[in-house]
Amino acid sequence: MALIVQKFGGTSVGTIERIEMVAEKVKKFRENGDDIVVVVSAMSGETNRLIDLAKQISDGNPVPRELDVMVSTGEQVTIALLAMALIKRGVPAVSYTGNQVRILTDSAFTKARILQIDDHKLRADLKAGRVVVVAGFQGVDEHGNITTLGRGGSDTTGVALAAALKADECQIYTDVDGVYTTDPRVVPRARRLEKITFEEMLEMASLGSKVLQIRSVEFAGKYNVPLRVLHSFQEGPGTLITIDEEESMEQPIISGIAFNRDEAKLTIRGVPDTPGVAFKILGPISAANIEVDMIVQNVSHDNTTDFTFTVHRNDYQNALRILEQTARDIGAREAGGDVDIAKVSIVGVGMRSHAGVASRMFEALAKEGINIQMISTSEIKVSVVIEEKYLELAVRALHTAFELDAPAPQGE
Ligand code: ADP
Ligand code: ASP
Ligand code: MG
Repeated sequence: MALIVQKFGGTSVGTIERIEMVAEKVKKFRENGDDIVVVVSAMSGETNRLIDLAKQISDGNPVPRELDVMVSTGEQVTIALLAMALIKRGVPAVSYTGNQVRILTDSAFTKARILQIDDHKLRADLKAGRVVVVAGFQGVDEHGNITTLGRGGSDTTGVALAAALKADECQIYTDVDGVYTTDPRVVPRARRLEKITFEEMLEMASLGSKVLQIRSVEFAGKYNVPLRVLHSFQEGPGTLITIDEEESMEQPIISGIAFNRDEAKLTIRGVPDTPGVAFKILGPISAANIEVDMIVQNVSHDNTTDFTFTVHRNDYQNALRILEQTARDIGAREAGGDVDIAKVSIVGVGMRSHAGVASRMFEALAKEGINIQMISTSEIKVSVVIEEKYLELAVRALHTAFELDAPAPQGE
């Protein structure tokens, strides 16, 4: 008998019919004798709808505490519906909100971190033979305020519960049958991976592959939770996220390609090149709580230099205003920016033992006439910033160049 935590995403509980199908699936696992804790997201589109309502009444800027009170309702609906569907099938079940379980978080509304989970109630219910249905994405802070864990946060609820309960496996059920070499909606010939290491999955998630929330992968790696991504309604082995980096002849250099359209680029030109200049430029940006991702400073010409960095698109206007002020303060020639950019990254632990990976990437992009604006590398990834309109072309070209394409279907 195993203890399994199963998380079902928004599309998997998007209609009454689908919730019935999830209930059937959970019932089958129960009949195998497994103990099941289910975590559900809100019905697909619901969280966006709620955020939109909040924005309408708040001139686009809702008070974070109240926003969390509201968006957490999406999951409260689906836990109750799923519990009803299970009970109707003769499966004893009980639903709990994050507060009722007591998923304790910090007080960072809209992006809270889980601090502790009280497993008493869950264990008692499991012992009494009940399926426990827990609301994803939400918790409660020490003052009793409702908090939420950031978009995609139900994945993290699932993994955190699995860690707290020392579950045998955490299964993330979604609308694709595993983690692919890249988003299968962009590259139809993307391939499902049998396995991917936590380290690679973390890079993929951080660099834009939203199949798993970043924090859920961090959590699973930290507590060594066996994690698997599966299709909600199709049979199959899915993708296992593992710790071991098996060295085999077949190991690909690149496991996957991630991309991200959420960034914007800012440039300050003609900056007097003196010690401390990077701090003068980025200090005011970080003081405004804006996170900077990639940074490039050019070699100086006539004692002036150009300095470019990227931020989240939501922070672009704010960052540009600050940079314009900095330009005036330090006597730079001009400040400007561009939102029509995208970041494409190749990820793989195989890169560690292979030279020339980056140049192969640059060659593939050059062949398509795609200009690289910025580059950053780490041990297991290479990222480039390009013009957004070339994003899909770039991802496809790299997918082919690194021999990731699935075999062509017969007749092609
Ligand atoms: P859920 O609502 O179940 O949480 P998400 O939309 O958050 O589902 O995540 C699943 C989606 O992630 C897929 O539909 C797919 O388009 C996208 N995705 C992006 N990158 C990948 C990848 N490398 N492998 C699989 N899916 C990916
Ligand atoms: N419902 C939340 C969201 O849409 C959490 C989740 O689905 O994981 O982001
Ligand atoms: Mg998700």
